Amino acid sequence: MKHYSIAEAKEIITGYKGPHIRIMEVCGTHTHDIFKLGIRSLLPANVELISGPGCPVCVTPVGYIDEAVMLALEKQAIICTFGDLIRVPGTKMSLADARRQGGDIRMVYSPMDALDLAKENPDREVVFLAVGFETTTPITCLSVKHAIKFGIKNYSILVANKTMPNAYMALKDSADAFLYPGHVNAITGEAVCKEMLEKYGVSGVIAGFTAEELMDAMAVIIVGLQSGKPFFENCYTRVVREDGNVRAMEAIDEVMEAVDTEWRGLGIIPMSGLKLRDRFAAYDARKKFGIPEIKGVPNPACRCGEVLQGKCKPSDCKVFGTGCTPQHPVGACMVSDEGACSAYYQYGGAI
Ligand code: SF4
Repeated sequence: MKHYSIAEAKEIITGYKGPHIRIMEVCGTHTHDIFKLGIRSLLPANVELISGPGCPVCVTPVGYIDEAVMLALEKQAIICTFGDLIRVPGTKMSLADARRQGGDIRMVYSPMDALDLAKENPDREVVFLAVGFETTTPITCLSVKHAIKFGIKNYSILVANKTMPNAYMALKDSADAFLYPGHVNAITGEAVCKEMLEKYGVSGVIAGFTAEELMDAMAVIIVGLQSGKPFFENCYTRVVREDGNVRAMEAIDEVMEAVDTEWRGLGIIPMSGLKLRDRFAAYDARKKFGIPEIKGVPNPACRCGEVLQGKCKPSDCKVFGTGCTPQHPVGACMVSDEGACSAYYQYGGAI
C-alpha cells in the first residue's frame, strides 16, 4: 500500500468525507501520543478514534491489586512494582494505602531491580508484580532465570502478564480497523495481524509513535477503508520485522505458558494470559505464599471496562474529571500513563 508524507496524510485525513469510521487505537501510548501530537484535532467528525485494551495496568483486574496488598500486609513481603500500579484502587485499598499501613512497597524500573533487592535483603521475601504484554514479559522471564542461576530463593513474581492476539479476536467486531501497537508487534511480528485479516477480514495497520508514523498510519487506514476491501499494512517497518523478535518470544516460551485469564471489563479471554511453567513454580508468588483465589470488586461508578472495549468514551463516565481525577483516581484508566481516561483528562476533556 502507498505511504504518505505528513502533508499528504493531513490532506487525506482532513479531507475525508466518506461514511462514519471507527478506528481502535489498541495501545494506550498511541492514545496519549495522538492527543499530544494534535492529531485528534485534525479528525473530521466522521472519523472516530476509540480506545482499546492495550494498557497493561488498565486491564489488570481489581483482584490482582488485592493479592498484592495481601502479600504486602499479611505476608510482609517487599512488593516491587512499576510506578503506575501503586495508585490503582483495589477492592478495599490501593498499594499506596497499603504502604501507609506499613506495607513495604517499592517502585522499580525493571524486574532486575527487584532481583537486586532480593540479593541485598536475603532475610526478606521480594515479590515483583509482573504486569505487562509481550514487550515487558521477556525481561520478567529473564529475571526468573537469573534468580535460579544465582541461587536467589527469596524472589518470586505475581504473574498477570497478558498477550494480545486473543484480545484482538475478542474485540474483532469493535471497530472498522485496528491501529496495532508497534512495540508489541516488534516482539510478536506481523503474523497475528495477518491472521486477523485472513481469518476474520479485520483491517488494521501496525503504527509507530512519531507524528510522521501516526499520520501515515491514519491515512493508510482511511484510504484502505475507502477501497472497500479488508487490508493489513505494516507502517512501522523501521522497527517491526515480519517475524518479530524470535529470541524474545523464545525467552517467554521457555519460562511461561498460555493460560485463560481475566481482563478488566473483558472478562476471561481464553489463552490470553501467561503463567510460570511448573518447573519454575518456586518463583510463583501465588504458590509460594498459598494465596487463595481473590475476586476483586471494582468501584460500581467506574466504566473502565467499557472504555477498554471502545464502548464508551472516558468523558461518558459520570465521575470523569469530578469524582475521578489523576490526583484521586477511581479506576485504573485514570491512573496509568497509558490509560485512556488520563489521556482525555490531560489533553482533551470531551474531544
Ligand atoms: S473516569 Fe475514572 S471512574 Fe470513570 S471510567 Fe475512567 S477511570 Fe473509571
